[in-house]
Amino acid sequence: MEFQAKELFAKHDVPGAPGIVATTPAEARAAAEKLGVCVVKAQVKAGGRGKAGGVKLAKTPDEAEEHATAILGMEIKGLTVHRVLIAPAATIEEEYYFSFLLDRSNRQYLCIASIEGGVEIEEVAETNPDAIKQIPINAGTGVDEAKAREIVAETGFPEALTEQAVTTVLNLWKTFVEEDATLVEVNPLARLAGDKLEALDGKVSLDENAEFRHEDHAAFEDKDAADPLEAKAKAKGLNYVKLDGEVGIIGNGAGLVMSTLDVVAYAGEAHGGVKPANFLDIGGGANAQVMADGLDVILNDEQVKSVFVNVFGGITACDEVANGIKGALEILGDAATKPLVVRLDGNNVDKGRAILEELNHPLVTTVDTMDGAADKAAELANA
Ligand code: GDP
Ligand code: MN
Repeated sequence: MEFQAKELFAKHDVPGAPGIVATTPAEARAAAEKLGVCVVKAQVKAGGRGKAGGVKLAKTPDEAEEHATAILGMEIKGLTVHRVLIAPAATIEEEYYFSFLLDRSNRQYLCIASIEGGVEIEEVAETNPDAIKQIPINAGTGVDEAKAREIVAETGFPEALTEQAVTTVLNLWKTFVEEDATLVEVNPLARLAGDKLEALDGKVSLDENAEFRHEDHAAFEDKDAADPLEAKAKAKGLNYVKLDGEVGIIGNGAGLVMSTLDVVAYAGEAHGGVKPANFLDIGGGANAQVMADGLDVILNDEQVKSVFVNVFGGITACDEVANGIKGALEILGDAATKPLVVRLDGNNVDKGRAILEELNHPLVTTVDTMDGAADKAAELANA
């Protein structure tokens, strides 16, 4: 969110006022009393807040309170506004767009910049594509002063702002690298009265893979928006995404799980239109505890009517997986109440199936093929 991006900007000396976060109209008024003329800005993870009525100028504390009353609780692109940022109002002379991002397809970083900022960049791309500069950045060498000067010149920042722009570009690059971001975007980067260059808005996407070296990033998570099941899965280190269906899915390997979602969705067409309830990849080496954790999350999803465990034994042999399921059912005890359809194949499949046969658990059905198991799971979910 903008206020969080601005915290990171402040940390890396990118100029701009951090502002004051308010969650109630009274807090907004108090903030406005401190700041004077200000803007009240909806804090949601979406662009185009201005157009949606989520950014309003307030000349007095009364007005700030009024705007906050209107904006708090508002929905912007499906997201409810829980906070507003009260930022000192600046006199804007020009608005620029600036970003660094990870350019996966070209295996490099990319700077996208335009002196026609303020509006949505997608709009500029359509109406005036020449105004948008794309400057590739070598991942090995990054942005040093010479590169920053090249970016500033190519973008066409006005002469009077050159030195400030070079410093800001370097500090935004520092933000990008040191925070392990995949996107750092400022729109508008504004020329204020007196030729001051400041970030009036900010958006930063952080790479979750680098979480381990950024303890402070956990505080940026939007707990209001997080799904409780996803939060629980995350706490247990599971790769889980909640979906809107009835058939719980557990599999090993992202590719197999993705295919399983497709196969279940297709099978569901013949069974009342049931759909997959989640994505869950337990990965390689799934022991009983991981299986139990996965089942625990899925069985706690009220929408789930049946569970499809689809495992292809590779490095993890099927007998280990079968023991995992057995162990999980023991750990869960009476908490396991929904039918499980298990399809095992691959390494040590015979041993795995034998273990489940011997277990002879009333909730467990084994089916030998993926299509057959998907059909059975869909049928049970629709029963
Ligand atoms: P977005 O619409 O979600 O990108 O939100 P922004 O923070 O970019 O705000 C939208 C527009 O509101 C900006 O392009 C500015 O024109 C205006 N705006 C934002 N902050 C200020 C400010 O401090 N002063 C003034 N006068 N306008 C602002
Ligand atoms: Mn913006």
